[in-house]
Amino acid sequence: MTIVPEGLIPDLLTRDASFQAVEKVFSSMAAGDAYNFPVVREAIGHEDALYGFKGGFDRTGQVLGLKAGGYWPHNLDKRGIINHQSTVFLFDPDTGRVTAMVGGNYLTALRTAAASSVSIKHLARKDAKVIGMVGAGHQATFQVRAALETHAFEKVIGWNYHPEMLPNLAKVAEEAGLPFEAVDLPGLHDADVVITITSSFAPSLMADHVSPGTHIACMGTDTKGKQEVEAALLARATVFCDEVAQSTTIGEAQHAIAENLLDASDVTQIGAVINGTHPGRSSDDQITLFDGTGVGLQDLAVSAAIVDVALENGTAIRVPI
Ligand code: NAD
Repeated sequence: MTIVPEGLIPDLLTRDASFQAVEKVFSSMAAGDAYNFPVVREAIGHEDALYGFKGGFDRTGQVLGLKAGGYWPHNLDKRGIINHQSTVFLFDPDTGRVTAMVGGNYLTALRTAAASSVSIKHLARKDAKVIGMVGAGHQATFQVRAALETHAFEKVIGWNYHPEMLPNLAKVAEEAGLPFEAVDLPGLHDADVVITITSSFAPSLMADHVSPGTHIACMGTDTKGKQEVEAALLARATVFCDEVAQSTTIGEAQHAIAENLLDASDVTQIGAVINGTHPGRSSDDQITLFDGTGVGLQDLAVSAAIVDVALENGTAIRVPI
């Protein structure tokens, strides 16, 4: 089997490779050629940790496997290591034998950023100039960096619940040679695209903070109870997602559905837009919203790409099984 440890991955995985892998697997999901297994997530009663598995099978790419991991809230304070920890295991779909073990931390950030970027490519107005960020934590920097590489934005604006974190966004904008402006939530009216990526359990972005024609990528809500945007915003928008089952149960759509503002049948997998079986944006005034909850197949697709590169350039560790 092939082992690609966490420490090697930043040098092996490019944002472009993540984007290609995620776009392709979203397409396969919508075509019915790839599916995610039910997610397991358990509070293990030790270190306040949440641990679980996200898995799936992509018949087109012949990728089978799972990501095991979760959230250990005391890691950083007690041990100086990051709180999110995960590892991906890949298996030969013909035999069930394990083929690879890949560090899952860095790739999770890149595959999550790739998902919002795929939505921007397929759903944002082509003349979008201003990107607005809600959130300025670890994932937010990956999100904005990937978005700036996907589309020719001219300015970054941002709001964060903890304003002292906003320099994280300013730094990424500066690296891309773009101006950054801190705004209040109504100031997000000026954004053509908004990415939300917070760990909030109450909405920050309200329906009247968003202008007609905006594309919103909601990336932080990945658990029952979390919420970043007002449910009324989903009622105003045309709603897309990575996977309908996750969007309607653990994503932003869970709240709009609970309030009877949206039906699961109103939510379209982004892969349908990629495949051309759904028209996507139909006017410059339409608000589009992508509910990105994060599916196991994203992790597997990106891991398979990493293994290919690591084998090609000789950095992979090979061990007999
Ligand atoms: P982080 O701890 O680095 O940052 C948290 C962010 O949330 C910060 O901007 C913080 O100011 C903000 N925040 C905290 N409390 C808030 C509140 N009450 N109201 C509004 N904002 C608040 O976390 P991170 O690693 O950047 O992750 C952000 C979120 O993204 C988490 O919820 C995580 O579970 C989620 N996530 C989703 C996916 C996916 O595929 N969709 C993947 C990875 C992480």
